[in-house]
Amino acid sequence: MRNPDLDGETLKEECGVIGVHLPGVDVASTCFFGLFALQHRGQESAGMAVSDGTRVRMHKGMGLVNQVFSSETLGTLPGEMAVGHTRYSTTGASALRNAQPIFCQTQIGEVAVAHNGNLINAVQLRSEMEAEGEVFGSTSDTEVMARIIVRNLKNGVEEAVREVMRLCKGAFSVVVQTPTTILGFRDPFGIRPLSVGRLGENGYMVASESCAFGPVGGKVDRELKPGEIVVIDREGMRVVDGVESPREAMCLFEFIYFARPDSRMFGTGLYSARVRMGEHLSEEHPVEADIVVPVPDSGIPAALGFSKASGIPFREGMMKSRYIHRTFIQPDQRMREIGVRMKLTPLEDHLKGKRVVLVDDSIVRGTTTKQIVKMMFDSGATEVHVRITAPPIKHPCFYGIDMASKKELAAAVMTLEELTKHIGATSLGFLSVDGARMAVHNSTEGFCTACFTGEYPIEIPEGLQKNAFGDPVGELETVSVSQGVLIQD
Ligand code: SF4
Repeated sequence: MRNPDLDGETLKEECGVIGVHLPGVDVASTCFFGLFALQHRGQESAGMAVSDGTRVRMHKGMGLVNQVFSSETLGTLPGEMAVGHTRYSTTGASALRNAQPIFCQTQIGEVAVAHNGNLINAVQLRSEMEAEGEVFGSTSDTEVMARIIVRNLKNGVEEAVREVMRLCKGAFSVVVQTPTTILGFRDPFGIRPLSVGRLGENGYMVASESCAFGPVGGKVDRELKPGEIVVIDREGMRVVDGVESPREAMCLFEFIYFARPDSRMFGTGLYSARVRMGEHLSEEHPVEADIVVPVPDSGIPAALGFSKASGIPFREGMMKSRYIHRTFIQPDQRMREIGVRMKLTPLEDHLKGKRVVLVDDSIVRGTTTKQIVKMMFDSGATEVHVRITAPPIKHPCFYGIDMASKKELAAAVMTLEELTKHIGATSLGFLSVDGARMAVHNSTEGFCTACFTGEYPIEIPEGLQKNAFGDPVGELETVSVSQGVLIQD
Protein backbone atom coordinates (compact mmCIF):
# COMPACT_ATOMS: atom_id res chain seq x y z
CA MET A 1 0.00 0.00 0.00
CA ARG A 2 1.32 3.44 -0.85
CA ASN A 3 1.28 6.25 1.61
CA PRO A 4 -0.69 9.14 0.19
CA ASP A 5 0.62 11.54 2.82
CA LEU A 6 4.22 11.46 1.73
CA ASP A 7 4.49 12.54 -1.84
CA GLY A 8 1.16 14.08 -2.69
CA GLU A 9 1.34 12.43 -6.10
CA THR A 10 -0.12 9.01 -5.64
CA LEU A 11 -3.60 7.98 -6.64
CA LYS A 12 -5.93 8.04 -3.69
CA GLU A 13 -8.06 4.99 -3.13
CA GLU A 14 -11.73 5.64 -2.81
CA CYS A 15 -13.53 3.84 -0.02
CA GLY A 16 -14.22 0.40 1.34
CA VAL A 17 -17.64 -0.85 2.46
CA ILE A 18 -18.76 -3.92 4.37
CA GLY A 19 -21.98 -5.40 5.77
CA VAL A 20 -22.12 -8.41 8.13
CA HIS A 21 -24.95 -10.44 9.69
CA LEU A 22 -24.38 -13.27 12.16
CA PRO A 23 -27.60 -14.40 13.89
CA GLY A 24 -27.31 -14.35 17.67
CA VAL A 25 -23.81 -12.84 17.74
CA ASP A 26 -22.66 -9.26 18.42
CA VAL A 27 -20.87 -8.38 15.18
CA ALA A 28 -19.15 -5.05 15.90
CA SER A 29 -15.74 -6.71 16.27
CA THR A 30 -16.34 -8.80 13.11
CA CYS A 31 -17.13 -5.60 11.24
CA PHE A 32 -14.01 -3.99 12.74
CA PHE A 33 -11.71 -6.73 11.43
CA GLY A 34 -13.43 -6.64 8.06
CA LEU A 35 -12.84 -2.89 7.91
CA PHE A 36 -9.25 -3.50 8.90
CA ALA A 37 -8.85 -5.67 5.78
CA LEU A 38 -10.26 -2.79 3.70
CA GLN A 39 -8.00 -0.14 5.23
CA HIS A 40 -6.06 0.23 1.96
CA ARG A 41 -9.22 1.68 0.32
CA GLY A 42 -9.37 4.70 2.61
CA GLN A 43 -7.36 6.04 5.51
CA GLU A 44 -9.06 9.34 6.35
CA SER A 45 -11.99 8.15 8.41
CA ALA A 46 -13.80 5.00 9.46
CA GLY A 47 -17.18 4.17 10.90
CA MET A 48 -19.81 1.54 11.47
CA ALA A 49 -23.53 1.35 12.15
CA VAL A 50 -24.78 -1.62 14.16
CA SER A 51 -28.37 -2.80 14.56
CA ASP A 52 -29.74 -4.83 17.46
CA GLY A 53 -32.96 -5.47 15.53
CA THR A 54 -34.80 -2.41 16.75
CA ARG A 55 -32.23 0.37 16.91
CA VAL A 56 -29.24 1.41 14.81
CA ARG A 57 -26.26 2.78 16.75
CA MET A 58 -23.28 4.38 15.09
CA HIS A 59 -19.71 5.32 15.78
CA LYS A 60 -17.27 7.00 13.42
CA GLY A 61 -14.27 9.27 13.47
CA MET A 62 -11.26 10.62 11.62
CA GLY A 63 -8.24 8.38 11.25
CA LEU A 64 -7.37 4.74 10.65
CA VAL A 65 -9.71 1.94 11.68
CA ASN A 66 -7.74 1.08 14.80
CA GLN A 67 -7.57 4.76 15.78
CA VAL A 68 -11.32 5.22 15.50
CA PHE A 69 -12.36 2.04 17.34
CA SER A 70 -11.28 0.55 20.66
CA SER A 71 -12.58 -2.44 22.60
CA GLU A 72 -14.63 0.02 24.66
CA THR A 73 -16.30 1.66 21.68
CA LEU A 74 -17.02 -1.70 20.05
CA GLY A 75 -18.64 -2.74 23.34
CA THR A 76 -21.14 0.10 23.02
CA LEU A 77 -22.40 -1.25 19.69
CA PRO A 78 -24.50 -4.36 20.41
CA GLY A 79 -26.31 -6.19 17.61
CA GLU A 80 -26.06 -8.96 15.03
CA MET A 81 -26.03 -6.73 11.92
CA ALA A 82 -23.55 -4.05 10.97
CA VAL A 83 -22.32 -2.01 8.03
CA GLY A 84 -18.95 -0.25 7.99
CA HIS A 85 -16.88 2.13 5.93
CA THR A 86 -13.31 3.31 5.41
CA ARG A 87 -13.07 6.59 3.62
CA TYR A 88 -10.94 8.64 1.34
CA SER A 89 -12.92 11.73 0.34
CA THR A 90 -13.87 12.18 -3.29
CA THR A 91 -16.92 14.41 -2.94
CA GLY A 92 -17.06 16.53 0.19
CA ALA A 93 -14.09 17.62 2.27
CA SER A 94 -12.18 15.33 4.56
CA ALA A 95 -14.09 16.23 7.70
CA LEU A 96 -15.87 14.36 10.44
CA ARG A 97 -19.30 15.43 9.25
CA ASN A 98 -18.59 13.62 5.99
CA ALA A 99 -17.31 10.43 7.62
CA GLN A 100 -19.56 7.46 6.90
CA PRO A 101 -21.92 5.73 7.39
CA ILE A 102 -24.34 8.64 7.00
CA PHE A 103 -27.26 8.15 9.35
CA CYS A 104 -30.76 9.41 8.54
CA GLN A 105 -33.61 9.17 11.02
CA THR A 106 -37.17 10.13 10.26
CA GLN A 107 -40.59 9.21 11.55
CA ILE A 108 -40.84 6.52 8.89
CA GLY A 109 -37.61 4.83 9.86
CA GLU A 110 -33.87 5.05 10.07
CA VAL A 111 -31.09 4.09 7.68
CA ALA A 112 -27.31 4.20 7.73
CA VAL A 113 -25.62 4.38 4.33
CA ALA A 114 -21.99 3.75 3.34
CA HIS A 115 -20.82 4.38 -0.20
CA ASN A 116 -17.80 3.63 -2.37
CA GLY A 117 -17.68 5.70 -5.53
CA ASN A 118 -18.68 9.15 -6.67
CA LEU A 119 -21.96 10.55 -7.99
CA ILE A 120 -21.62 12.85 -10.98
CA ASN A 121 -25.12 14.32 -10.57
CA ALA A 122 -25.03 14.84 -6.79
CA VAL A 123 -25.11 18.65 -7.05
CA GLN A 124 -28.18 18.58 -9.27
CA LEU A 125 -30.00 16.04 -7.08
CA ARG A 126 -29.15 17.93 -3.93
CA SER A 127 -30.32 21.27 -5.38
CA GLU A 128 -33.62 19.70 -6.38
CA MET A 129 -34.09 18.21 -2.92
CA GLU A 130 -33.13 21.44 -1.16
CA ALA A 131 -35.67 23.28 -3.30
CA GLU A 132 -38.22 20.83 -1.91
CA GLY A 133 -37.21 21.65 1.65
CA GLU A 134 -34.54 19.08 2.55
CA VAL A 135 -31.80 20.40 4.84
CA PHE A 136 -28.50 18.58 4.44
CA GLY A 137 -26.20 17.93 7.39
CA SER A 138 -23.07 17.01 5.44
CA THR A 139 -21.43 17.77 2.10
CA SER A 140 -21.11 14.13 1.14
CA ASP A 141 -22.86 12.73 -1.93
CA THR A 142 -23.73 9.74 0.24
CA GLU A 143 -26.24 11.87 2.12
CA VAL A 144 -28.05 12.48 -1.16
CA MET A 145 -28.47 8.71 -1.47
CA ALA A 146 -29.48 8.34 2.18
CA ARG A 147 -32.16 11.01 1.83
CA ILE A 148 -33.56 9.45 -1.35
CA ILE A 149 -33.86 6.14 0.54
CA VAL A 150 -35.60 7.78 3.50
CA ARG A 151 -38.02 9.65 1.23
CA ASN A 152 -39.04 6.39 -0.41
CA LEU A 153 -39.14 4.10 2.65
CA LYS A 154 -42.93 4.08 2.56
CA ASN A 155 -42.64 1.84 -0.52
CA GLY A 156 -40.31 -0.58 1.26
CA VAL A 157 -36.54 -0.36 1.51
CA GLU A 158 -35.88 -2.46 -1.63
CA GLU A 159 -37.97 -0.09 -3.72
CA ALA A 160 -36.30 2.88 -2.00
CA VAL A 161 -32.90 1.52 -3.05
CA ARG A 162 -34.18 1.02 -6.62
CA GLU A 163 -35.12 4.69 -6.67
CA VAL A 164 -31.54 5.59 -5.69
CA MET A 165 -30.27 3.42 -8.52
CA ARG A 166 -32.64 5.09 -10.96
CA LEU A 167 -31.85 8.67 -9.92
CA CYS A 168 -28.14 8.59 -9.13
CA LYS A 169 -25.55 8.70 -11.89
CA GLY A 170 -21.93 7.74 -11.46
CA ALA A 171 -20.06 5.05 -9.58
CA PHE A 172 -21.62 3.55 -6.48
CA SER A 173 -21.19 0.36 -4.54
CA VAL A 174 -23.27 0.88 -1.42
CA VAL A 175 -24.30 -0.83 1.80
CA VAL A 176 -27.40 0.20 3.75
CA GLN A 177 -28.35 -0.70 7.32
CA THR A 178 -31.95 -0.49 8.54
CA PRO A 179 -32.93 -1.86 11.96
CA THR A 180 -33.73 -5.26 10.40
CA THR A 181 -32.03 -5.48 7.02
CA ILE A 182 -28.71 -4.97 5.25
CA LEU A 183 -28.80 -4.12 1.54
CA GLY A 184 -25.89 -3.88 -0.86
CA PHE A 185 -26.04 -2.63 -4.44
CA ARG A 186 -23.85 -1.70 -7.41
CA ASP A 187 -24.40 0.99 -10.02
CA PRO A 188 -25.64 -0.16 -13.44
CA PHE A 189 -22.10 -0.08 -14.88
CA GLY A 190 -20.53 -1.89 -11.92
CA ILE A 191 -17.63 0.57 -11.79
CA ARG A 192 -16.69 -0.23 -8.18
CA PRO A 193 -16.52 -3.79 -6.84
CA LEU A 194 -18.81 -5.53 -4.35
CA SER A 195 -18.85 -9.22 -3.41
CA VAL A 196 -21.37 -11.26 -1.43
CA GLY A 197 -20.99 -14.50 0.49
CA ARG A 198 -21.38 -16.47 3.69
CA LEU A 199 -20.17 -15.66 7.17
CA GLY A 200 -19.57 -18.50 9.62
CA GLU A 201 -22.21 -21.24 9.87
CA ASN A 202 -25.37 -19.25 9.31
CA GLY A 203 -24.41 -15.66 8.52
CA TYR A 204 -23.91 -13.57 5.40
CA MET A 205 -21.73 -10.70 4.36
CA VAL A 206 -21.07 -8.20 1.60
CA ALA A 207 -17.82 -6.30 1.09
CA SER A 208 -15.91 -4.21 -1.44
CA GLU A 209 -13.24 -6.85 -1.85
CA SER A 210 -12.92 -10.57 -1.26
CA CYS A 211 -9.85 -9.92 0.96
CA ALA A 212 -12.28 -8.84 3.72
CA PHE A 213 -14.01 -12.23 3.87
CA GLY A 214 -11.23 -14.59 4.97
CA PRO A 215 -10.06 -12.71 8.09
CA VAL A 216 -13.58 -12.79 9.60
CA GLY A 217 -14.46 -16.38 8.67
CA GLY A 218 -16.38 -15.49 5.52
CA LYS A 219 -16.42 -17.12 2.10
CA VAL A 220 -17.25 -15.35 -1.16
CA ASP A 221 -20.19 -16.72 -3.17
CA ARG A 222 -19.87 -14.29 -6.04
CA GLU A 223 -19.43 -10.70 -7.15
CA LEU A 224 -22.65 -8.72 -7.27
CA LYS A 225 -23.50 -7.91 -10.90
CA PRO A 226 -23.94 -4.31 -12.08
CA GLY A 227 -27.43 -3.09 -11.16
CA GLU A 228 -28.10 -5.93 -8.68
CA ILE A 229 -29.24 -5.62 -5.05
CA VAL A 230 -28.39 -8.08 -2.28
CA VAL A 231 -30.77 -8.25 0.69
CA ILE A 232 -29.62 -9.79 3.99
CA ASP A 233 -32.12 -10.25 6.82
CA ARG A 234 -33.35 -12.87 9.28
CA GLU A 235 -34.63 -14.94 6.34
CA GLY A 236 -31.11 -15.23 4.91
CA MET A 237 -29.62 -13.65 1.79
CA ARG A 238 -31.19 -13.09 -1.62
CA VAL A 239 -30.15 -11.19 -4.73
CA VAL A 240 -32.83 -9.20 -6.53
CA ASP A 241 -32.86 -7.05 -9.66
CA GLY A 242 -32.29 -3.36 -9.14
CA VAL A 243 -32.01 -1.56 -12.47
CA GLU A 244 -30.99 -2.71 -15.91
CA SER A 245 -27.29 -2.60 -16.74
CA PRO A 246 -26.46 -1.05 -20.14
CA ARG A 247 -23.02 -2.66 -20.01
CA GLU A 248 -20.35 -3.53 -17.51
CA ALA A 249 -17.55 -0.96 -17.04
CA MET A 250 -15.46 -2.07 -14.09
CA CYS A 251 -12.57 0.21 -13.13
CA LEU A 252 -9.41 -1.14 -14.79
CA PHE A 253 -7.33 0.58 -12.15
CA GLU A 254 -8.77 -1.67 -9.44
CA PHE A 255 -6.84 -4.51 -11.12
CA ILE A 256 -3.65 -2.52 -11.69
CA TYR A 257 -3.30 -0.90 -8.30
CA PHE A 258 -6.23 -0.11 -5.98
CA ALA A 259 -7.47 -3.50 -4.90
CA ARG A 260 -5.40 -5.73 -2.66
CA PRO A 261 -3.37 -8.37 -4.53
CA ASP A 262 -5.01 -11.15 -2.48
CA SER A 263 -8.49 -10.13 -3.68
CA ARG A 264 -10.38 -11.70 -6.59
CA MET A 265 -12.37 -9.69 -9.13
CA PHE A 266 -13.84 -10.66 -12.50
CA GLY A 267 -13.16 -14.21 -11.38
CA THR A 268 -9.40 -13.71 -11.32
CA GLY A 269 -6.87 -13.35 -8.52
CA LEU A 270 -5.40 -9.87 -8.59
CA TYR A 271 -1.87 -11.05 -7.82
CA SER A 272 -1.91 -13.38 -10.85
CA ALA A 273 -3.40 -10.64 -13.04
CA ARG A 274 -0.56 -8.33 -12.04
CA VAL A 275 2.03 -11.02 -12.80
CA ARG A 276 0.46 -11.36 -16.27
CA MET A 277 0.60 -7.55 -16.67
CA GLY A 278 4.36 -7.79 -16.07
CA GLU A 279 4.62 -10.54 -18.72
CA HIS A 280 2.71 -8.42 -21.26
CA LEU A 281 4.87 -5.41 -20.34
CA SER A 282 8.02 -7.38 -21.08
CA GLU A 283 6.62 -8.41 -24.47
CA GLU A 284 5.53 -4.86 -25.34
CA HIS A 285 8.69 -3.12 -24.10
CA PRO A 286 11.64 -5.55 -24.12
CA VAL A 287 15.03 -4.34 -22.90
CA GLU A 288 18.51 -5.71 -22.28
CA ALA A 289 19.30 -5.47 -18.57
CA ASP A 290 20.85 -7.32 -15.62
CA ILE A 291 18.09 -7.24 -12.99
CA VAL A 292 14.34 -6.56 -12.66
CA VAL A 293 13.60 -4.47 -9.55
CA PRO A 294 10.08 -3.79 -8.23
CA VAL A 295 8.94 -0.64 -6.49
CA PRO A 296 7.58 -2.30 -3.33
CA ASP A 297 5.00 -3.46 -2.58
CA SER A 298 2.69 -2.77 -5.48
CA GLY A 299 5.27 -3.42 -8.22
CA ILE A 300 6.32 -6.87 -6.97
CA PRO A 301 3.92 -9.18 -8.88
CA ALA A 302 4.43 -7.32 -12.18
CA ALA A 303 8.21 -7.38 -11.71
CA LEU A 304 8.03 -11.15 -11.19
CA GLY A 305 6.01 -11.43 -14.43
CA PHE A 306 8.49 -9.22 -16.30
CA SER A 307 11.37 -11.31 -15.00
CA LYS A 308 9.68 -14.60 -15.94
CA ALA A 309 8.83 -13.47 -19.48
CA SER A 310 12.18 -11.79 -20.17
CA GLY A 311 14.50 -14.22 -18.38
CA ILE A 312 16.14 -11.27 -16.57
CA PRO A 313 16.66 -12.14 -12.87
CA PHE A 314 14.28 -10.62 -10.29
CA ARG A 315 16.12 -8.80 -7.52
CA GLU A 316 14.86 -6.60 -4.69
CA GLY A 317 16.50 -3.22 -5.06
CA MET A 318 14.96 -1.30 -2.17
CA MET A 319 13.29 -1.91 1.15
CA LYS A 320 10.03 -0.32 2.20
CA SER A 321 9.30 0.83 5.71
CA ARG A 322 6.51 -1.42 6.94
CA TYR A 323 5.19 1.13 9.40
CA ILE A 324 5.23 4.55 7.76
CA HIS A 325 1.63 4.26 6.53
CA ARG A 326 0.43 3.63 10.05
CA THR A 327 1.12 7.16 11.19
CA PHE A 328 -1.50 9.83 10.89
CA ILE A 329 1.03 12.60 11.44
CA GLN A 330 1.51 14.82 8.41
CA PRO A 331 5.17 15.17 7.37
CA ASP A 332 6.55 18.71 7.76
CA GLN A 333 8.33 20.51 4.91
CA ARG A 334 11.79 19.20 5.84
CA MET A 335 10.53 15.62 5.92
CA ARG A 336 8.69 16.16 2.64
CA GLU A 337 11.98 17.14 1.05
CA ILE A 338 13.51 13.87 2.20
CA GLY A 339 10.56 12.52 0.25
CA VAL A 340 10.71 8.99 -0.97
CA ARG A 341 13.60 8.02 1.32
CA MET A 342 11.21 8.14 4.27
CA LYS A 343 9.57 5.01 2.96
CA LEU A 344 12.09 3.41 0.58
CA THR A 345 15.78 2.73 1.15
CA PRO A 346 18.02 1.34 -1.61
CA LEU A 347 19.96 -1.94 -1.45
CA GLU A 348 23.22 -0.67 -2.92
CA ASP A 349 24.84 -4.13 -3.05
CA HIS A 350 22.10 -5.26 -5.44
CA LEU A 351 22.19 -2.17 -7.64
CA LYS A 352 25.85 -1.23 -8.03
CA GLY A 353 27.07 -1.60 -11.62
CA LYS A 354 23.74 -3.08 -12.78
CA ARG A 355 21.45 -2.25 -15.70
CA VAL A 356 18.09 -2.10 -13.89
CA VAL A 357 14.52 -2.63 -15.13
CA LEU A 358 12.43 -0.74 -12.56
CA VAL A 359 8.79 -1.91 -12.46
CA ASP A 360 6.05 0.22 -10.90
CA ASP A 361 2.27 0.42 -11.20
CA SER A 362 1.63 3.99 -12.32
CA ILE A 363 2.95 7.50 -12.97
CA VAL A 364 0.74 10.40 -11.90
CA ARG A 365 2.79 13.61 -11.62
CA GLY A 366 6.10 11.78 -12.00
CA THR A 367 7.74 13.23 -8.87
CA THR A 368 7.97 9.92 -6.97
CA THR A 369 9.28 8.01 -10.00
CA LYS A 370 11.88 10.72 -10.54
CA GLN A 371 13.09 10.37 -6.95
CA ILE A 372 13.26 6.58 -7.17
CA VAL A 373 15.18 6.68 -10.47
CA LYS A 374 17.68 9.10 -8.90
CA MET A 375 18.00 6.80 -5.90
CA MET A 376 18.84 3.90 -8.27
CA PHE A 377 21.56 5.90 -10.03
CA ASP A 378 22.91 7.27 -6.71
CA SER A 379 23.21 3.65 -5.59
CA GLY A 380 25.41 2.73 -8.53
CA ALA A 381 22.94 1.53 -11.22
CA THR A 382 24.37 2.16 -14.70
CA GLU A 383 21.01 2.20 -16.53
CA VAL A 384 17.43 2.51 -15.23
CA HIS A 385 14.69 1.33 -17.61
CA VAL A 386 11.31 2.24 -16.12
CA ARG A 387 8.39 -0.06 -16.98
CA ILE A 388 4.86 0.86 -15.81
CA THR A 389 1.87 -1.51 -15.64
CA ALA A 390 -0.71 1.27 -15.97
CA PRO A 391 -1.10 2.82 -19.40
CA PRO A 392 -0.34 6.59 -19.45
CA ILE A 393 -2.92 8.45 -17.30
CA LYS A 394 -4.16 11.33 -19.43
CA HIS A 395 -7.64 12.14 -18.09
CA PRO A 396 -9.11 12.70 -14.61
CA CYS A 397 -11.38 10.17 -12.94
CA PHE A 398 -14.89 11.24 -11.92
CA TYR A 399 -15.89 7.84 -10.56
CA GLY A 400 -14.28 7.90 -7.15
CA ILE A 401 -10.51 8.10 -7.62
CA ASP A 402 -8.68 11.30 -6.81
CA MET A 403 -5.89 11.55 -9.35
CA ALA A 404 -5.17 15.29 -9.81
CA SER A 405 -6.38 17.54 -12.57
CA LYS A 406 -5.45 16.97 -16.19
CA LYS A 407 -2.76 19.65 -16.19
CA GLU A 408 -1.02 17.87 -13.29
CA LEU A 409 -0.97 14.47 -14.99
CA ALA A 410 2.54 14.03 -16.36
CA ALA A 411 1.51 11.78 -19.26
CA ALA A 412 -1.19 14.27 -20.31
CA VAL A 413 1.18 17.21 -20.66
CA MET A 414 4.44 15.56 -21.81
CA THR A 415 5.45 13.36 -24.72
CA LEU A 416 7.03 10.00 -23.89
CA GLU A 417 10.43 11.49 -24.65
CA GLU A 418 9.83 14.49 -22.39
CA LEU A 419 8.54 12.31 -19.58
CA THR A 420 11.53 9.96 -19.86
CA LYS A 421 13.81 12.96 -19.50
CA HIS A 422 11.69 14.41 -16.68
CA ILE A 423 12.04 11.28 -14.54
CA GLY A 424 15.69 10.86 -15.53
CA ALA A 425 15.27 7.30 -16.83
CA THR A 426 17.34 5.55 -19.51
CA SER A 427 14.08 4.42 -21.13
CA LEU A 428 10.38 4.34 -20.28
CA GLY A 429 7.58 2.00 -21.35
CA PHE A 430 3.90 1.80 -20.37
CA LEU A 431 1.67 -1.25 -20.70
CA SER A 432 -1.01 -0.71 -23.36
CA VAL A 433 -4.71 -0.52 -22.42
CA ASP A 434 -5.36 -3.80 -24.24
CA GLY A 435 -2.31 -5.38 -22.60
CA ALA A 436 -3.75 -4.54 -19.18
CA ARG A 437 -7.27 -5.71 -20.09
CA MET A 438 -6.08 -8.97 -21.64
CA ALA A 439 -3.93 -9.65 -18.57
CA VAL A 440 -7.04 -9.44 -16.37
CA HIS A 441 -9.41 -11.81 -18.11
CA ASN A 442 -8.30 -12.34 -21.66
CA SER A 443 -10.84 -9.90 -23.01
CA THR A 444 -11.03 -6.23 -23.87
CA GLU A 445 -14.71 -5.99 -22.85
CA GLY A 446 -16.25 -4.92 -19.55
CA PHE A 447 -13.87 -2.23 -18.28
CA CYS A 448 -13.84 1.49 -17.61
CA THR A 449 -10.61 2.84 -19.12
CA ALA A 450 -11.57 6.53 -19.09
CA CYS A 451 -8.47 7.89 -17.36
CA PHE A 452 -6.33 6.28 -20.07
CA THR A 453 -8.53 6.73 -23.13
CA GLY A 454 -10.89 9.62 -22.27
CA GLU A 455 -13.87 7.36 -23.10
CA TYR A 456 -16.15 7.84 -20.10
CA PRO A 457 -18.85 5.15 -19.81
CA ILE A 458 -21.17 7.69 -18.16
CA GLU A 459 -21.13 11.15 -19.68
CA ILE A 460 -19.50 13.76 -17.43
CA PRO A 461 -21.41 17.03 -16.94
CA GLU A 462 -19.43 20.09 -18.00
CA GLY A 463 -17.55 21.82 -15.20
CA LEU A 464 -17.85 18.90 -12.76
CA GLN A 465 -15.35 19.16 -9.90
CA LYS A 466 -14.32 16.77 -7.21
CA ASN A 467 -15.27 19.10 -4.39
CA ALA A 468 -18.74 19.48 -5.77
CA PHE A 469 -20.42 21.05 -2.75
CA GLY A 470 -17.90 23.86 -2.22
CA ASP A 471 -16.10 22.54 0.84
CA PRO A 472 -12.73 24.01 1.67
CA VAL A 473 -10.42 21.37 0.20
CA GLY A 474 -7.86 20.04 2.64
CA GLU A 475 -9.82 20.78 5.80
CA LEU A 476 -8.63 17.94 8.00
CA GLU A 477 -9.77 17.48 11.56
CA THR A 478 -7.54 15.87 14.12
CA VAL A 479 -8.23 12.30 15.09
CA SER A 480 -11.41 12.30 17.06
CA VAL A 481 -14.27 10.09 18.01
CA SER A 482 -17.89 11.01 17.72
CA GLN A 483 -21.30 9.56 17.78
CA GLY A 484 -22.58 9.77 14.25
CA VAL A 485 -24.19 12.61 12.46
CA LEU A 486 -27.88 12.35 13.24
CA ILE A 487 -29.92 13.90 10.53
CA GLN A 488 -33.51 14.54 11.45
CA ASP A 489 -36.25 15.59 9.14
S1 SF4 B 1 -11.51 6.67 -14.92
FE1 SF4 B 1 -9.77 5.29 -14.45
S2 SF4 B 1 -9.65 5.22 -12.18
FE2 SF4 B 1 -11.66 6.10 -12.75
S3 SF4 B 1 -13.07 4.36 -12.77
FE3 SF4 B 1 -12.34 4.59 -14.86
S4 SF4 B 1 -10.50 3.26 -15.01
FE4 SF4 B 1 -10.98 3.56 -12.83
